[in-house]
Amino acid sequence: MISSRRLLIIGLIAFVAALAGVFVGRVLVDAPRASETELHALLHGELDLSAAQESRLKPLETRFAARRGALELEMRAANVRLAQAIEAEHGYGPRVTSAIDETHDIMGALQKETLEHLFAMRGVLDRDQAAIFDRIVVKALTADAR
Ligand SMILES: [Zn+2]
Repeated sequence: MISSRRLLIIGLIAFVAALAGVFVGRVLVDAPRASETELHALLHGELDLSAAQESRLKPLETRFAARRGALELEMRAANVRLAQAIEAEHGYGPRVTSAIDETHDIMGALQKETLEHLFAMRGVLDRDQAAIFDRIVVKALTADAR
């Protein structure tokens, strides 16, 4: 009787820990990535690029897509480590702390590389497109502050 209760409680703790891992992972990873990806897609949609500009952008897009893919893979691995750390420590222990630091580092790298890519894109724009670019980027970056 007691041992089955214990098992139930252990099962519940593991379940809650797994949920917490998924939740923390989603909060840390999905929100910023979605907004950066949206901003990037929005810019490509709104700027009405010429064929010449598209061909100048092509190598930049290829490089950025590869970097983003690599960082997203790293992020997925870091999230697994975070979930495992939460499961192992059932709280805010040293493994959880270092796993969260790791996800922040990867997120920071992704943010930096996305901004670098956006400014590389800006380099191929004409004056009117650059004005649209600036308006969209400023609006996107200040949207969170509202
Ligand atoms: Zn782009």
